[in-house]
Amino acid sequence: MKRVGVIGGGQLAWMMADAAQKLGVELVVQTPSEHDPAVSIAKETVFAPVDDANATKILAQKCDIITFENEFVNLDALSILAQQGVCFRPRLEALAPLLDKYDQRCYLRDLGLPVPQFLALDEVKNLKSQIEYLGFPAVLKSRRHGYDGQGTFIIQDFAALEQKLSYETTTKNLNQSFFLLEEFIPFERELAIIAVRSVKGEIVTYPVVETQQEQQVCRRVIAPAEITPNQVAEIQAIAHTLLNSLQVVGIFGIELFLGTNGKILVNEIAPRTHNSGHFSIDACETSQFEQHLRAVCGLPLGNPALQSAGAVMVNLLGYEDSHSDYQSQRQQIAEIPQAHIHWYGKTESRTGRKLGHVTVLLDNQNREQAIAIAHSIESIWYPR
Ligand code: ADP
Repeated sequence: MKRVGVIGGGQLAWMMADAAQKLGVELVVQTPSEHDPAVSIAKETVFAPVDDANATKILAQKCDIITFENEFVNLDALSILAQQGVCFRPRLEALAPLLDKYDQRCYLRDLGLPVPQFLALDEVKNLKSQIEYLGFPAVLKSRRHGYDGQGTFIIQDFAALEQKLSYETTTKNLNQSFFLLEEFIPFERELAIIAVRSVKGEIVTYPVVETQQEQQVCRRVIAPAEITPNQVAEIQAIAHTLLNSLQVVGIFGIELFLGTNGKILVNEIAPRTHNSGHFSIDACETSQFEQHLRAVCGLPLGNPALQSAGAVMVNLLGYEDSHSDYQSQRQQIAEIPQAHIHWYGKTESRTGRKLGHVTVLLDNQNREQAIAIAHSIESIWYPR
């Protein structure tokens, strides 16, 4: 029996529970609130924010390996624990180039992987002339702690950029160097791939999926994505290059843009399980959560293949401030044939908060049909 410490106790840690039980692994969680989803499934919880390295020291005493469901950690402080022999998987060196979006872009570019054009605002002398080569619209991003589109702004012109920067820097007391700016990609579709690397260096990838975002938040995932075999091969090669270069042990989510010109660009790397892989719980022989635990525990990797022709996953996002558990909507959704509903048990709903998700297994790979099913779920979930 291995004990795995998980930094972060949100839904990603919560969804490790079934896999942990299957593999005979105990989970110990570090998370701030007793209301966090994974507290209910953890063998033990260390109640502390994810960036509290003193708490992680206590966590380390309770487990054999530490992994992450949330990467907003204090790497400098954790590296002292690593020097003292605490085993982090993935290792901290694999996270270091990824936690800051600017550093991440530089790392990917230096590896020769395709990324949008970008610049850090602290290295810009003459903003106006530098921005000309990116053009407008442009995308302004917080370099750190962005998630679900928080800290990502699409900017239409120079005046709007100045206004946004001045608002963000004054209201949040941030320096301009906290931001990066990049070209807006007029993508045809957004794609993602989940890839995992074992202790022995074996790599397994899941089917490439299409992700659909609204207001920068993931709404739906369609598996597999309707793309060419060459595009699939290109994306798999990107995953291999990245995981091998970082010597990752564990699972990564890689978000990509498919440009209108057919060109693939990497948008973002998540060094953990990812929303774009939730379909794997119901649709694949080995879920991303089991696969991650297999990797970090040094077990052989499982089969990532789809067990149905296709699948569509729909996020159930909060749309109001409420304490409701939405029983009746959940019941209606559960009645859809081949629907599997996952409810994270959060006690508070807020607009945009991920409260649960549904995966519907499909007997074909018809994209239009997958989208229609997603819309019918959304019409039950969201009030008119
Ligand atoms: P987060 O880390 O908050 O998920 P992302 O950088 O992944 O932020 O951006 C969220 C979404 O915003 C993306 O899925 C995409 O829809 C949109 N987006 C981000 N960067 C760009 C870009 N350079 N061009 C066009 N759209 C973008």
